[in-house]
Amino acid sequence: MSFLVVSPGKDPKAWVEALKNQHPGLNVYVYPEDHDKEEVEFALSWNHPRGIFQNYPNLKVVASMGAGVDHITSDKELPENIKITKVVDDRLEEDMGTFVLSLVLAHQRNLLEYREKQINEKWEPVSYTRNDQVKVGILGIGNLGQSVSKCLLKNGFQVRGFSKNKKDFDHVESFAGEDEFDDFLEQSDILVNMLPLTAETEKILNKELFEKLPKDAYVINVARGEHLVEQDLLAKIDDGHLSGAALDVFWEEPIRPEHPFWKHPKIRVTPHVASVTHPESVVPQIIENYERMKEEEELKNLVKRDRGY
Ligand code: NDP
Repeated sequence: MSFLVVSPGKDPKAWVEALKNQHPGLNVYVYPEDHDKEEVEFALSWNHPRGIFQNYPNLKVVASMGAGVDHITSDKELPENIKITKVVDDRLEEDMGTFVLSLVLAHQRNLLEYREKQINEKWEPVSYTRNDQVKVGILGIGNLGQSVSKCLLKNGFQVRGFSKNKKDFDHVESFAGEDEFDDFLEQSDILVNMLPLTAETEKILNKELFEKLPKDAYVINVARGEHLVEQDLLAKIDDGHLSGAALDVFWEEPIRPEHPFWKHPKIRVTPHVASVTHPESVVPQIIENYERMKEEEELKNLVKRDRGY
């Protein structure tokens, strides 16, 4: 029984070390080094080459190296019987919470505008709204969204959450389902996208959605680039409806040198760093699932393949 690590373009060394520290007897292969495919029952993966998992006749589980699983679910050739797991990790949640809080505060206190003014040597105070007057809407209030909501609540913001099913979180007004979507959007001065990428959510950040947000709303996308229709965002910022955006994720990463986001004065670009998985923090749950798979027990953090997250 062997374990396969597949992460093209990403150095697997820290993962392999953490796996071996946690489980010294584990036989770990790193794709594409030479290995016996029949031996592999468990794979740890990030952006695997499409279709490869069909060649592993005894593979039972593909574990994502991160909280997102769209890089696995989007592989149409992934055999139906293979289980998918995601990462749920305190550190990941904390980092996402503080990152989004930083973006919200930077917007709220006009820090990007002041940077521009500094470059132009302009001493020009700008008025600001106090936190308790600002409504932040979290689109997709799951594990990471809840952590974001806690950070925002601690700092006095009003928080709303949108999800598939109604939630009962302290001090967060919950909206769910299509009927409540417009109300949720109309009450979001700042919209934070935390949805998983699925067939239902691809291109959800589009012109129609932006027009339902209040005038001068601000958009933060820390989920996936494919949620956003980039031209619609640019048009709605440039026509003055939106006040700007902070984007951490993109259709193509890195974005091309000539991409209009780079130099847009109202768009903040960060290179997919909102919350980065730390192998040593996450490997214990991967090993636990490996043991559970061997014992034929239910896996933790299992993805429902029919809903895609
Ligand atoms: P979860 O699965 O815990 O939460 C997803 C939330 O979205 C749930 O509340 C779910 O509702 C809701 N949801 C799903 N589909 C819909 C829909 N069609 N309409 C309305 N609500 C929907 O995910 P996580 O919080 O763990 O992760 C969210 C995403 O964050 C990841 O998928 C990944 O893309 C991204 N991410 C980005 C990182 C970065 O560095 N930029 C780092 C890590 C993750 P319900 O609860 O009712 O099912």
